[in-house]
Parts: sequence; structure tokens; C-alpha cells
Amino acid sequence: MAPKIDITTYPGNIINGEFVPTQTTRHSIDPATGKPLYEVPVARKEDLDAAVSHARAAFKTWSKTTHEDRAKLLRAFVDAVEANREDLERLLTLEQGKPLGLSQTEVGMALHWLRTFATMQLTDEVLEDTEERTIYSTRVPLGVVGAIVPWNWPILLGLGKVGPALMTGNTVIMKPSPFTPYCDLKLGELAMTIFPPGVFQVLSGDDELGPWMTEHPGINMISFTGSIPTGKKVAASCAKTLKRYVLELGGNDAAIVCDDVDIEKCVPKIATMAFLNSGQICMLCKRIYVHEKIYDQFRDSMVEFTKNHIKTGSGFEPDVVVGPVQNSMQFEIVKDMYAQIAKSGWKAALEGRVREPGRGYFVEPAIIDNPPDDSRIVVEEPFGPIVPLLRWSDEEDVIRRANGLETGLGASVWSRDLARAERMARLIDAGSVWVNSHFDVAPDVPFGGHKESGIGMEWGLEGFRHFTNSRSIWVWKKVFD
Ligand code: NAD
Repeated sequence: MAPKIDITTYPGNIINGEFVPTQTTRHSIDPATGKPLYEVPVARKEDLDAAVSHARAAFKTWSKTTHEDRAKLLRAFVDAVEANREDLERLLTLEQGKPLGLSQTEVGMALHWLRTFATMQLTDEVLEDTEERTIYSTRVPLGVVGAIVPWNWPILLGLGKVGPALMTGNTVIMKPSPFTPYCDLKLGELAMTIFPPGVFQVLSGDDELGPWMTEHPGINMISFTGSIPTGKKVAASCAKTLKRYVLELGGNDAAIVCDDVDIEKCVPKIATMAFLNSGQICMLCKRIYVHEKIYDQFRDSMVEFTKNHIKTGSGFEPDVVVGPVQNSMQFEIVKDMYAQIAKSGWKAALEGRVREPGRGYFVEPAIIDNPPDDSRIVVEEPFGPIVPLLRWSDEEDVIRRANGLETGLGASVWSRDLARAERMARLIDAGSVWVNSHFDVAPDVPFGGHKESGIGMEWGLEGFRHFTNSRSIWVWKKVFD
């Protein structure tokens, strides 16, 4: 029988298979109402030290388990998550704000991701095999992984690190964002009943915990998802102990719409991929370049679609697409971007509206009509439901504009002419490029960023390799003949 979670109680951090309470506790809020949620622990430095030393001890055995042993436990864990999925989905909407349907999608994706990870394995490669010698390339786990998670997809992005870390033989300490600690603590609670102590631990803390982890000499790798400025701090901190790191950072994806598309088919997809999760996704259509021949029609159609189909409200209301912005810090950033419409004289095809705070951080979608290329709404990642449409006419020039920023996470090209679209896609400097789609991801397909959008990749066997060191083994066969 799978254990049953109670989403209202958080007795402690998950250290060495036990709840470890802390003297101090804190809470986050429900972003749809501003009301406080449950008290959670605030890890002290000694809690981290204890978790690291248990993780190091557990690594000695866990790293020697077989692929099948690890896969079996991972599958048991997925079953336990699935048995609690309705509670987790409600908790996710409560703490993160996203519509319940999207919480169901996130949990469903996480289950599929882990089940797929359980089938994936790095195997030895034979580089040379002659009578004289055999040379293998093998992969060995790094040790203890610190998984640092952001607040926009706490379940999928958390387990997207934990699964590959465990399957490659590492032990892992997961740290949720202080804005969204609840689901990740519950995942740790379920893990406690399945994995050996010290293999998968979860620490909730305040702003000090992340830097303690990146500095800790007992942690061998940091798998980080978050903003570009924080990513740079993480890299600098990891350098002190030469820890390995993978950074999944911010993006400002271009979507290039060619003049031969079917506008009515294109607009619902592009508008949804601009406003999903209230724009709080690293890979969304954040700069939409539309060919001048169809620009006016596309703009009007996108405004109509957004007005009629992109409803703003609490994540528990039916048919809502845009839930509240997740926290006050992000709400201020988004508010400031909306204030620029008047301050900078941008033309708004759809005005949008920042609802007065007090009853949640609600912001209605805005569409900016062809602002200058150097305006803030084009060069900055707003991480809110506001998006610019930009005119283009020359293919080479639009690719230059798409590639013109320091970010390179995702991008898309929309055209009936697949050869042309693929040719354009191959010229874009980004970790994922889609033709006639945006934001497709899969557990066996690597994803990550170029330029300042990140270092290294997650998911796929390429993502698995980042959790390992390479070890070449040379076997000379005839030396003692
Ligand atoms: P953030 O950088 O503020 O925080 C991310 C995590 O890092 C949190 O757990 C936070 O507590 C921790 N942290 C903060 N300061 C730290 C430090 N100095 N050292 C170590 N850890 C620290 O990011 P956020 O606001 O939670 O997330 C939003 C950003 O994440 C956006 O820019 C978005 O584009 C990006 N993002 C990227 C991806 C991706 O896969 N590339 C996915 C989701 C979000």
C-alpha cells in the first residue's frame, strides 16, 4: 500500500529517512488569495552538514547498486507519487498558483519523466578492441548532487533532476524555492518510505541555504534551474571547490511566423504558448516576429483569441489559463513592465491590466504592437503575461534579430514550407528549436540553453552524462604472455 500524505503538516526536513524539525519555521502564501499556507522548516547550516554526511555515507552503497535495483525503487516511488497525485495537484495549485489543469499536466509529466528515466542507462563504450588491448569509455557517478529548484515548476523540474541523479548512482539533496516548498517536501516524505536513508533528502530553508549548498565541500555537483543572475553566482561559488554544475537559466525565446502560415491554426497555439502559467515558463513565445504581409491580420486574430480564450483567475476556477503571478517579487517586476507601456509610449494591441493586489497577484494579458527592438519588453524576459509582436520582412534580418540577445534557450519557426523552416531553424542559436510548435519537451530529449541561458543539458542520455565523470579504462592483454 502506498503511503498517504497529509498536505497540511510539515513536521521537518527529510534527512536520513527521518523528519528533522527545525527551531525556526516559515510559511509561503497562496498567491491567489495572499493568505498564509502551512509552516515549513528553515534548515540551519548543521542540518545541511548532517544531510551531506548522510548522503556521502549512502553513496558508498547506492553507487554500487545495479541499474535494475535503482529502476525498481524509482518505479516504486513513482507509484507512491501517483497514488497521491490528486492531493499533490491541488497542493501545487495552492502554492504555485497555476490552473489545476496545468498542475495535473505537471504531475503527469513528472510521472512519465521518472518512468522513462528508469529505462535509461549509460553503458560502457568500447573505443578500441584489438588483440593487444581494449579501451573502454565508462561513466562513474559524481557523489552527492545538490538539486536547486525554482518556483515555477517545482515538481517537474525537481524530479527532472532527482531521477537522472539517482539513476546514474548519485545521492541527492533537493532544495525547493522558499516560494514553493510544499510539494517538494511531500515528495521527500514519500521518498523516505522507499529509498534507503540518505539517498534522496529534501531541505527547505531560506535564502541562505542555496549559497551554503554551492559552497559545501561535501557536495560534488549542483544541478541548478533559475535566473541568469543567480546562475552566475552559482557558477562563481562552485568554482571555489571546482564542483561540477549544470545551469538551466532564463530565456527570451523568439517565435518567427512566416507569411505562408494558416493564421487561424497558428494563433491559438502561439497565444497559448505566450501566456501559459502566466508567462512564468523559461521557454515560451516571448518575442513573436510576424511577417509584414500577415502582421495586421495575425495581431487582430491574436487579440481576439486572447480576449475570448485566455481567462485570468484563480487556478481553481474552471477554464482559467492565467493564474496569479507566483509571488510579490515577481508581481512587482511584471507591474513595472506594464507601467512601461505608458512610460515608454508602446502601442498596446491588448491593454492588459494589473488587478489591485490584496486578493492575489492577478495580471491580465497584454500584447504590445511592434515596439522598437531595443525596448525592455523585447530585450528582457518579463516572466509575466505580456508579449511583444514585431514585424519582419527579410529572412536573414529576422534571424539576426532572433539571435541578437545574450539568451538562447528555445525558439520556433512557423511555416508550411518545412524545408525553409528547417533551414531557418538550423541558423538559430538556441538549445531547442521547434518547427510549427513551441515548448515541446520529453524526458529522453536533452534540453538546455546556449549563451547565457545555461551550461550543460538536462534530460536525455546527454543529461545523464552530466551527473557522471568519464573514466577511460585501458586493458593491455599481452604484456605477460
Ligand atoms: P532564482 O534564480 O531566483 O531561484 C532559483 C533557485 O535558486 C531557488 O531555489 C532559490 O532559492 C535558489 N537561490 C537563490 N539564490 C541563490 C544563490 N545565491 N545560490 C544558490 N541558490 C540560490 O529563480 P526563480 O525566480 O526561482 O526562477 C525564475 C527564473 O528561472 C526565470 O529566469 C526562468 O526563466 C528560469 N527558469 C529556467 C528554466 C530552464 O530550464 N532553463 C526553467 C524554469 C525557470
